[in-house]
Amino acid sequence: MKLTGRSAIVTGGASGIGRAAAIALAAEGCAVMVTDIDDAGGEETLALIEKAGGTVGYRHQDVADEATWIQVVADTMAAHGRLDILVNNAGIGSGQLVTEMSLEAWNNQVAINLTGVFLGTKHAIPSMRKGGNGGSIINISSVAGLEGSAGLAGYCATKGGVRLFTKAVAKEYAADKIRCNSVHPGIIDTPIWTKIDEGGLDAMEQLRAPGANSLNADMIAAAGAPLGFAGLPEDIANGIVFLASDDSRYMTGSELVIDGGWTA
Ligand code: NAP
Repeated sequence: MKLTGRSAIVTGGASGIGRAAAIALAAEGCAVMVTDIDDAGGEETLALIEKAGGTVGYRHQDVADEATWIQVVADTMAAHGRLDILVNNAGIGSGQLVTEMSLEAWNNQVAINLTGVFLGTKHAIPSMRKGGNGGSIINISSVAGLEGSAGLAGYCATKGGVRLFTKAVAKEYAADKIRCNSVHPGIIDTPIWTKIDEGGLDAMEQLRAPGANSLNADMIAAAGAPLGFAGLPEDIANGIVFLASDDSRYMTGSELVIDGGWTA
């Protein structure tokens, strides 16, 4: 087990990539604090990890709220005595043409996808420093943080922001042995796609596979990823465990792209 005795916070852990990451970290011996706004999903993740014998806690958290971040970090320190790993995973996708995007929709996306990452990083670092063991911050960006996509300008802006924020943090806290890397998933089969689809967004049309009536991760991946299929949340969780562990001890400020060849 690569993470025995360590402690992590995983945001957006009620679903998709966050849930898979929380389970994978726990399977490596890490104590995990799962947070989300979806309490039912969060409790399910909690139960899955507990059933497998892992150490886990759950807190309701909107990542855009600073006061809650202070509480979540304090609760993690109280429960597990240390903080080694932060996975800034919570995020939303919103597909709209720029000329049709309301300021409210833009601000909401920025608040969750970018400000949430800033707040988590800001409040986790002092506890990581206190332990003296360094730490690993893993920010979930996207292939949309590497290249532009019509209809996803707001999402691309936030994910591109996460990418460079990560590199700046890597330089700022390297002396404390706190590493900070970004992960760039391609098309991963999680509920996020149905949530985007539920918005009925014409701007996403170009992501639709020919003949498909709705957004479907596998169809999108088949249309754009050389490997021809959508990844699973576990494919990203494997990368997160690697970045959390000492196997990646010489990596900071890096971009781990896991996209089936989408950006190749
Ligand atoms: P998901 O299945 O929708 O999971 C995201 C979780 O975050 C959901 O439980 C969601 O709750 C929660 N959440 C939403 N707003 C929140 C907030 N303000 N505070 C705390 N939690 C919040 O999505 P996913 O695909 O696993 O995505 C995880 C991350 O990967 C995101 O950052 C996403 O942008 C990124 N990503 C995903 C893909 C992909 O193809 N799936 C590709 C590239 C990058 P609700 O269900 O209540 O909204």
